[in-house]
Amino acid sequence: MAKQSSKKDLAKLIKAYFTKYKTYNRRTYISGNPFKASKADKAHLKKRPTRSCSTCRKSPSSNKDYWIADHRPPVALSKGPYFLYPQCCDCSAIQSGIVKKKKSGMTLSAAEEKFINKPKTNYQAVATTSKRAGASDKLATNKLGKHHGCVNCKSRANPAVVADHYIPSSFYRNYVKKVFEALGLDSYLDKKNQYLTIQCWHCSNMQAHEVRNLITLIKIKAKELGITMYS
Ligand SMILES: [Zn+2]
Ligand SMILES: [Zn+2]
Repeated sequence: MAKQSSKKDLAKLIKAYFTKYKTYNRRTYISGNPFKASKADKAHLKKRPTRSCSTCRKSPSSNKDYWIADHRPPVALSKGPYFLYPQCCDCSAIQSGIVKKKKSGMTLSAAEEKFINKPKTNYQAVATTSKRAGASDKLATNKLGKHHGCVNCKSRANPAVVADHYIPSSFYRNYVKKVFEALGLDSYLDKKNQYLTIQCWHCSNMQAHEVRNLITLIKIKAKELGITMYS
């Protein structure tokens, strides 16, 4: 049973979200296209000299989550032992898509099978029996990433940094806008710019999690206020 949200509580939580992720500084790039980050926007962000995370401020060299330590074979499909390989966020997302596909019983193509199996590399990956990469495993995997790049696309220039919207797209849905209005928070939804920032993989996941939680509470509030949620 979800907690009943009083008007004050939800407003407070939304304000806290905006305070936490507000990064109007030199690391912030304002997208010309407010509601969809274009390829050019993303490329522009990733080329910036300071690629440290705009949320935790960790620099690439100090962040043990900079490269994603991905298990091969994938944890969801095997009991181990596993090998940890460095992946960029794009390839890691592809990998989880393939794993989901296989788990749902669909047949994988040869290329997809190859993608999630232990790859041939000229280096030794980090061996583990643990389903969760610990701090030292992450550090060791990141060392590999630094030297050899992403195990899949070989990219060294495209590590685990994500171009994220500071104001999530889901906040611009009609029912969310109406709840923001009812709470007196509509000034938080910038009508012109949805700010794009660079985040590390870890903070990006955290932000997505927080947004999902807020959306759940906003839906409850919308129901209380009799706002329809068709859009
Ligand atoms: Zn971060
Ligand atoms: Zn990659």
